[in-house]
Amino acid sequence: MGSLPKVTKPHAVCIPYPAQGHINPMLKLAKLLHQKGFHISFVNTEFNHNRLLRSRGPAVLDGLPDFRFYAIPDGLPPSDPDATQDIPSLCKYTPTHSLLPFCSLISKLNDTSVSDVPPVTCIVSDGVMSFTLKAAEKFGLPEVLFWTTSACGLLGYLQYRHLVERGYTPLKDMSYVTNGYLDTKIEWVPGMKDIKLRDFPSFIRTTDPNDTMLNFVQTESAALPRARALILNTFDALEQDVLDAISAIQPRIYTVGPLQLMVNQIQDHRLKSMSSNLWKEEAGCIDWLDTKEANSVVYVNFGSITVMTAKQLTEFAWGLANSKKHFLWIVRPDIVVGDSAMLPAEFITDTENRGMLASWCPQEEVLKHPAIGGFLTHNGWNSTVESISGGVPVICWPFFAEQQTNCRYSCVEWGIGMEIDNEVKRDEVEVLVRELMDGEKGKEMRRNALGWKKKAEEAAGHADGSSRVNLDKLVDQVLLAK
Ligand code: UDP
Repeated sequence: MGSLPKVTKPHAVCIPYPAQGHINPMLKLAKLLHQKGFHISFVNTEFNHNRLLRSRGPAVLDGLPDFRFYAIPDGLPPSDPDATQDIPSLCKYTPTHSLLPFCSLISKLNDTSVSDVPPVTCIVSDGVMSFTLKAAEKFGLPEVLFWTTSACGLLGYLQYRHLVERGYTPLKDMSYVTNGYLDTKIEWVPGMKDIKLRDFPSFIRTTDPNDTMLNFVQTESAALPRARALILNTFDALEQDVLDAISAIQPRIYTVGPLQLMVNQIQDHRLKSMSSNLWKEEAGCIDWLDTKEANSVVYVNFGSITVMTAKQLTEFAWGLANSKKHFLWIVRPDIVVGDSAMLPAEFITDTENRGMLASWCPQEEVLKHPAIGGFLTHNGWNSTVESISGGVPVICWPFFAEQQTNCRYSCVEWGIGMEIDNEVKRDEVEVLVRELMDGEKGKEMRRNALGWKKKAEEAAGHADGSSRVNLDKLVDQVLLAK
């Protein structure tokens, strides 16, 4: 589809859930829609808008005449402006506090006496911001929901209602998390084979029927059929059975991933340089990797939300040190619960010649780098799909949400991962890192990861690839449909 004349440009309002792992893929999708001729209004929360200004400088939000950034409040009380926001609070406050400002913004964009942009023609909202459907209904606009999770994670959330009705959750008491109960097989979910209770997104691990997250994801997933369509950052070959199962609930599914490969073909440098990193990337990671041999470095990063105890951090540190492998370890300043992330001084001295520590890095670049041989990850969906796109095998330490499901699919279905016990021990870290980098299992996982990388490139890199075709269909059949 070529560029449309300015006056007739369709106008998509894109609104991500206000966390790093949601803003990144939404910005990529918005760039792709811009390429397809859409005027874009990208809506961050004020908190994240300010963080972007600080971490990237004011130019980052300048946008383009037809790609503009806006900010609305999230309703949370002020907090540390550089730290991860509290997820349950965001889930509680955003739906009630952000709807009015979101509606006011749409009214303003549509008011020709103050606005110089085309009238809004559609809303592209994060799947867990379903309050936006009320705005779509009020303004008579079509809305599509973009779930930034894996398809298998979303299918897991869609089972929550049944898991509650059948009495699997809430748990009787918290001993059920460790007493083997989570090994219960769940055999009635279409599209999922040999799945256990432990493989479902983590919010079932509660004893409280009023738990914010347990209820939040039920409400959000129940809204899926109300949208015109569902967008997912995955590709058909990776999750076909699961996608078929979801289509019974929302038949109009558009898989457009991996988005990172989809945006590769964007040439416009102004569009390319728009970034959504809430943390400032530390310089030097790529230069350091350039000095290392192929497949020789373990990359360790637990994303933007994971927290751990000081003891777990220390066990990871000594496991890495004892593996004697080169490593690039990203330690977010707020990764240790209630404390600053302090690594033992002896560990720093012991590993200074083979380890690099940083607080944030350009992860997509890192995972594409030939020096990276494996990734110790929390299995956030972006990290998982970025690892698949780079052909990099993983050690999984899932923290929360659908990371448990991504871990199961990485280890069992896709054959690219090994799981590490939640009660992390240095000896296990050492053994798994050695296996990942040198062992037979590691080699097999790398072969599988490279096979998935090829399939991802087929889906996203060719004009007739499934994700490219789906993006065109999304635009023509849904976003531009009368
Ligand atoms: N990320 C990054 N640099 C870092 C850590 C993370 O660029 O040092 C990016 C990463 O590439 C991914 C996102 O932040 O796109 C994290 O999303 P993910 O779903 O993996 O995990 P979450 O942060 O939501 O737990």
